[in-house]
Amino acid sequence: MRIVPIGFNPLKTTMQKTSFQEKPILPTLKCDTVSFGATANQAKKVIILLGAPNSGKGTYGRKIAEKYAIPQISTGDILRGEVKKMSKLGIEAKRYMESGGLVPDELIMKIFQQRILEKDCQRGFILDGFPRTINQAEQLDEILKKDKNIALKIINLDVDRDILFARSANRYICADCSKTHAVKEGYNPETSKCDCGGKLIKRADDTPEVLASRLDSYEKQTLPLVDYYGEQVSNVGVYGKDSPVDEILGRINKILEK
Ligand SMILES: [Zn+2]
Repeated sequence: MRIVPIGFNPLKTTMQKTSFQEKPILPTLKCDTVSFGATANQAKKVIILLGAPNSGKGTYGRKIAEKYAIPQISTGDILRGEVKKMSKLGIEAKRYMESGGLVPDELIMKIFQQRILEKDCQRGFILDGFPRTINQAEQLDEILKKDKNIALKIINLDVDRDILFARSANRYICADCSKTHAVKEGYNPETSKCDCGGKLIKRADDTPEVLASRLDSYEKQTLPLVDYYGEQVSNVGVYGKDSPVDEILGRINKILEK
């Protein structure tokens, strides 16, 4: 795969080498000229977010998506979307989901390939929790290789295990509107309420046991991706004690702007 760093401008580099040419002859193309496709020097941003359950992939994915106006794509979302559309692939996926089995990689890849052809992916997209296995990553490489105008960034949210458990322990949801609340230490969820007035409760599947088992499969299946991608990975570590969302987001943005 040809990796072009985000912000890399092949035109500009050529110009800088020409000593007698102060200004570029061609104007730099703006984001809204993506219809030029491969000739636009604004590369398509493809961001892969790696990280354990509770590492914050969903949260930061949403924030990055907002900032760059590109969609956040997760396996769950594309599967649900396809099932909702009742497409051929969706119906196939539904059969696996209803029988409680895992949707095979081949089917996920087919759905994914369609998804990134949609118009909102023209400027790029964020992959949150995908690829999940080396097999998926290899197939993703094949797909991304076909597009020569991609600037790929891979961010690994490396969060201490204790912090992952603490985040789970402090997380409540509103019984009425389902909004998620991170309850601070020394704060009593029994007496506190959601902004809507609803009671705060624990989600039934948000237990240390469930998290431990999800971490187990993450470590077996997904963690090897950090080695697989090797030097392409930018690490965002949260060690010792948890950091505020904005602080972590600042570090992620620095990587993306590099
Ligand atoms: Zn509420």
